[in-house]
Amino acid sequence: MKNKTQKKTVSAIKGTKDILPQEARKWQLVERAAKRVFELYGYREIRTPVFEATELFERGTGMTTDVVTKEMYTFTDKGGRSLTLRPEYTPSIVRSIIENRLYLQPEPLRFYYLGPMFRYDKPQKGRFRQFHQMDIEVFGEKDPAIDAEIVEMAHTLLEELNVTRIETLVNSIGCKKCRPPYLKDLRDKAKGAIASLCPDCQRKTETNPLRIFDCKKESCQEVSETFPVLVDYLCHECEDHFRQFRSYLDLYGIKYKIEPRLVRGLDYYTKTAFELISPKLGAQNAILGGGRYDYMIKEFGGPELSGIGFAVGMERLISVVPFNAEKEKFLYLAYLGEEAKKVGMELARLLRSEGVECLIEYKERGLKSHLSRANKLRARWVVMIGEDELKSGEFKLKDMETGGQYSITRDDILKYIRK
Ligand SMILES: [Zn+2]
Ligand SMILES: [Zn+2]
Repeated sequence: MKNKTQKKTVSAIKGTKDILPQEARKWQLVERAAKRVFELYGYREIRTPVFEATELFERGTGMTTDVVTKEMYTFTDKGGRSLTLRPEYTPSIVRSIIENRLYLQPEPLRFYYLGPMFRYDKPQKGRFRQFHQMDIEVFGEKDPAIDAEIVEMAHTLLEELNVTRIETLVNSIGCKKCRPPYLKDLRDKAKGAIASLCPDCQRKTETNPLRIFDCKKESCQEVSETFPVLVDYLCHECEDHFRQFRSYLDLYGIKYKIEPRLVRGLDYYTKTAFELISPKLGAQNAILGGGRYDYMIKEFGGPELSGIGFAVGMERLISVVPFNAEKEKFLYLAYLGEEAKKVGMELARLLRSEGVECLIEYKERGLKSHLSRANKLRARWVVMIGEDELKSGEFKLKDMETGGQYSITRDDILKYIRK
């Protein structure tokens, strides 16, 4: 009994955080805008489980990526199966398409998804082990017009959220035909410069030299500047695709820069790669990144079906969205005494049924205390019900924005709020 005070409190796991109500409002605003924009372009939401068989991600992300080798949340469940909390979304979606044979249905294969991902990353500023992404994916569209359309959709979303000064980087990373000769040259060049690379990149010269471009170390970036670039090796088909993609961007009036070192971290990308960056964010400046992955479904045992999509890091996006500290749009109901409380409860029910957000707190307060409480909560309106109001049948309404105060009948409250 005496040890009651010694009970240890449990805190959130390192690398995770609570999104508290004030912050969650911002998330809702961004999510609502995103859903609205995606649906306008014919996308539909898909939801898949948070955990999957470990094998799915090993196959999907490629055995040599950092995500798989170092950062997966993998565990054995009570049935002895190896499970993994999804580190990215695309493999799950691909699994679902194949498993549910969605490609046989008439609906377009355009999906969007919002949710948490998990990576056992070193916790650092702005990086979490549970982080959140919005993804969109299109399957079965080979035409470069769709590549341009999703870039345009991304811009529309950012405009909607008032995110300005966005730069668009594009690249082509080739296909099965044109990438191997390029990789050979790249590997030779990287091996020649191996002494100037960090230990991680030294390993990559063997496993996947393309990833040297991803290294954030300045010395490695300097060396990789001298490496050959894929756009100089594109086959006829890839070059054509890249040229048309850019001509459609021109059609939309989207300015872009070709960034030959933009290679995307994952094995299954083909042809188009792009990023939307915000210079405001410093070194890790990508808000949104995407590209084409035409081989992926086939590699998973599905039919030949091209794919393209992008992912948005929610934490990063929210950090660049300007939010106005706008007044809350709700009515605070103040009452004095039991009789007024009952009238207030009925009035609140009526207002809510008309779609007015209404807050009534069941705590005896004086008038002044009610007003200061309403002010603190940033209520838009206050309705006061006291003895006088009960007798006269007219309530006092205070407009917290203008400071105006009115005697008003029950029916006129709605009219006032809606004007
Ligand atoms: Zn090619
Ligand atoms: Zn490096």
